[in-house]
Amino acid sequence: MTIKIAVLKETRSGERRVAMVPSVIEKLVRMGAQVAIQSGAGDAIKLPDAAFKHATSVADTAQLVGDADIVLAVQPPTIETVQAMKAGAILISFVYGNKEPALVDMLQQKKIICFAMERVPRISRAQAMDALSSQATLAGYYAALLGATHLARIFPRMTTAVGSLRPATVLVMGLGVAGLQAIATAHRLGAVVEGYDVRPETKGEALSLGAKFVDTGVNATGEGGYARELTQEEKAKVAQIVTAHIQQADVIVTTASVPGRPAPKLISKAQVDGMKTGAVIVDLAADGGGNCEYTKPGETLRIGEVTIVAPLNVPSLLGEHASELYAKNLLNLLELLVHDGRISPDWSDEVVAKTALTGTSEAKPAMSEQHAA
Ligand code: NAD
Repeated sequence: MTIKIAVLKETRSGERRVAMVPSVIEKLVRMGAQVAIQSGAGDAIKLPDAAFKHATSVADTAQLVGDADIVLAVQPPTIETVQAMKAGAILISFVYGNKEPALVDMLQQKKIICFAMERVPRISRAQAMDALSSQATLAGYYAALLGATHLARIFPRMTTAVGSLRPATVLVMGLGVAGLQAIATAHRLGAVVEGYDVRPETKGEALSLGAKFVDTGVNATGEGGYARELTQEEKAKVAQIVTAHIQQADVIVTTASVPGRPAPKLISKAQVDGMKTGAVIVDLAADGGGNCEYTKPGETLRIGEVTIVAPLNVPSLLGEHASELYAKNLLNLLELLVHDGRISPDWSDEVVAKTALTGTSEAKPAMSEQHAA
């Protein structure tokens, strides 16, 4: 039986990505799947329907998902879309179930087996499926560029006929996937780069990318390689050391986050007020409320002579490459779910079991019936 895969057009405002790109669809077809894509799904990244040569194009959502075995999306679909899905089918997208209780209820009601991309375990073997990382890498790169273009100076040292220009100093706060990519990009552009994180193990990574590490003596490594929230005492200790670096920076890129918590505030209003004239903060944590006390998510502000740039959904701004990497993450996950042209997830595989949000135990027998032979 041919596996039918449906790709949704994203409907959330500001979302330009599409879950599948033509080159990856070709690979799905080679796996034995039949792919249908919602009309206009690639429009925002200038991929017309005609570019999806190996997929059929369907306009109506209910018709698209109604007989699909697997539905693919970037953002969580609407409740109506899930309602229109076949009972026991598979959904793969970002979901963030704690923010979408009604959607999760509907997924359960319909016995949908939902693989939520934010749940892919952060282990080496799952790196090829890790969409949080692929998207954060692009965001980190773009943050450095945003810093460069909002600055009225250049990043590299430059020698001209009328003298030399000093390189810019870039401070990156939060050295996860995005932060490290921001360091690498700023360094490549010739800036003098400093990095800071509350997980001391990031020091070696920062140094290997050409940055200096701002050592605060605070270790807030939490569970699973993530950071924990700082105590008041730790915050005061950090501020004492970090303030001098904030005040010397031409550009600051902040990327800090703590799982399940609002973004930690790393830069106070007082610290911004003491920054260099013309300095720029690029707050990549805007989706979680921002790392700077002045940040207004989605807005670019001028506070005195400091510019604070806080874009939302940054990967979507690089929609073409973000879609390509996301589609490859999905393909790699699908390869764990489809064997010999049949949907047969290996539930003993940690990546499969941990990524599943709904539909695991109750759906297993139904699936093997549905896709047997
Ligand atoms: P994240 O987005 O959760 O956080 C970004 C950074 O902010 C982290 O480095 C965190 O330590 C830092 N941070 C939090 N509070 C801070 C504060 N008050 N001050 C300064 N920095 C602060 O991070 P992420 O990019 O999702 O990565 C999380 C972890 O997962 C890291 O340990 C990373 O190496 C690991 N990881 C592993 C894999 C893999 O092995 N497959 C893939 C990706 C990430």
